[in-house]
Amino acid sequence: MKEYISLKEAIADVCGPGRQIIDQRYVAGGDINEAHALSLDDGTVLFMKSNALSALDNFKAEAQGLEAIRNTGAIGVPEILGVGTNAGASFLLMEYISGAPRVKNYWEVFAAELAAMHRSDVSTFFGFPNDNWIGSRKQINRKNDSWIAFYRDCRLQPQFEAAKTYFTASDRRKIEYLLSHLDHFLIEPERPSLVHGDLWSGNKITGNDGKCWLIDPAVYYGHPEVDIAMTELFGGFDGRFYEAYKEAGGMEPGYADRRDLYNLYQLLNHLNIFGGGYYGAVMRAVARYC
Ligand code: ADP
Repeated sequence: MKEYISLKEAIADVCGPGRQIIDQRYVAGGDINEAHALSLDDGTVLFMKSNALSALDNFKAEAQGLEAIRNTGAIGVPEILGVGTNAGASFLLMEYISGAPRVKNYWEVFAAELAAMHRSDVSTFFGFPNDNWIGSRKQINRKNDSWIAFYRDCRLQPQFEAAKTYFTASDRRKIEYLLSHLDHFLIEPERPSLVHGDLWSGNKITGNDGKCWLIDPAVYYGHPEVDIAMTELFGGFDGRFYEAYKEAGGMEPGYADRRDLYNLYQLLNHLNIFGGGYYGAVMRAVARYC
């Protein structure tokens, strides 16, 4: 991924020297960054996310995540055009997705493509070559040969630690029990899969081919069930998606018993970002395994 020292340099490199931005339209819907559609004088439209200078590393990680998904060739993601800094801010520049009418069998096609992404032979280890972010929180991706150890040490444990002031002594006993018995509840996958890592309905858009494309990932090599679990946490995914994902051979027996344990990571992340409103949901999920 290319890194630029100004937006002007990026646009000249991507679209040709002399190109001018003639319109900049705010795009709503993001949680963290400002998003704009940039129209150039030759009719090209680019999508730009921007934030404070300190967000440059977040944008690099997001670009790496989108590129990792793109490299599987399994499912659509916007093409990354570069990252950089401009006038005291950082930016991530990518292809603008204007969307198209949904293809027939949109949900079935999405499920098949997601299952193909999950099946891609991408890694021999769990984790990822670099750390990234889940929402506004750092996500540690330290390499591990065991999925269960990775999920404990790099996912649940750091979130429990960050949220420790919320927990009573009794909560802490349950949490300790859960962390030391994860192998009773989780299974090791045959091999690591690339997962999107933050697959709620706001992180998918309809691409220019009418199919479902992925945006804003928090990728790593893990168990594909984390993605399916997250789709169920906040909803918005049609029943046909789950049927088709099952048919594509993506579901292992016992998934329903593991789902809440995977979503516990996302609930803890929400507790740490948004506060005590998520405490009850976190402890209900913990209690299910104690
Ligand atoms: P944030 O990082 O702030 O959460 P998102 O990545 O969710 O921002 O993007 C904000 C909104 O912009 C999304 O809800 C989506 O509708 C739209 N969007 C994201 N990527 C593109 C793109 N490449 N082209 C057009 N619109 C996009």
